[in-house]
Amino acid sequence: MSAFVIPEPRRSVLTVQGRDGLFPVRRVYCVGRNYAAHAREMGADPDREPPFFFSKPGDAVVPGGPIPYPPATTDLHHEVELVVAIGRTGTKVPAAEAQGLIYGFAVGVDLTRRDLQAVAKKGGKPWDMAKGFDNSAPIGALVPLDAFPMPEAGSITLEVNGERRQSGDLSDMIWPIPDMLAHLSDLVTLEPGDLVFTGTPEGVGAITRGDTIRAEVAGLPLLAFTLV
Ligand code: MN
Repeated sequence: MSAFVIPEPRRSVLTVQGRDGLFPVRRVYCVGRNYAAHAREMGADPDREPPFFFSKPGDAVVPGGPIPYPPATTDLHHEVELVVAIGRTGTKVPAAEAQGLIYGFAVGVDLTRRDLQAVAKKGGKPWDMAKGFDNSAPIGALVPLDAFPMPEAGSITLEVNGERRQSGDLSDMIWPIPDMLAHLSDLVTLEPGDLVFTGTPEGVGAITRGDTIRAEVAGLPLLAFTLV
């Protein structure tokens, strides 16, 4: 067994409510336009699109706290999302069996450089630099599936400096979690440590240095962070 020739890369981890162990993060997938009203506010027709996915690097995951305002943007947006944590390996998993892949759930914010995304969309270019930058995936503590069963409904909200900006319900997802995981597992093999952002309700908007963000899904630990 050889030693690494460079310092070993850092791995992001999530804490788990009520457990001593940590959840090691592998890959981060995100589904686009999974709430009809948000798809419409972004100029898309939600009735005509199959689910599509993009990704963020695993080390973009941070546990909240102070988050540096990222470079190369003047239009950083918040997107509050339910995050699914994968605990078992699965490929081409039918929706009826997808729950078996899940370790638990957390609240996340899909931070987005909206100005870079607009340029990418216009030019038919990749979204990577709009979505997958450093610290772009703040995620709160996980709750295991046995303590937070597969949610079919529940409020999902985000406040900036105490003002409500996003307010939706998990029941408004176009693609429910099992269907989404089935689609994703047709494209890649899901492995323990993978995370899936499940889309955001309407009300996305800009945040800036000094703002305090509070993201909540009913029944899950609060995710709070300040941009510095
Ligand atoms: Mn998103």
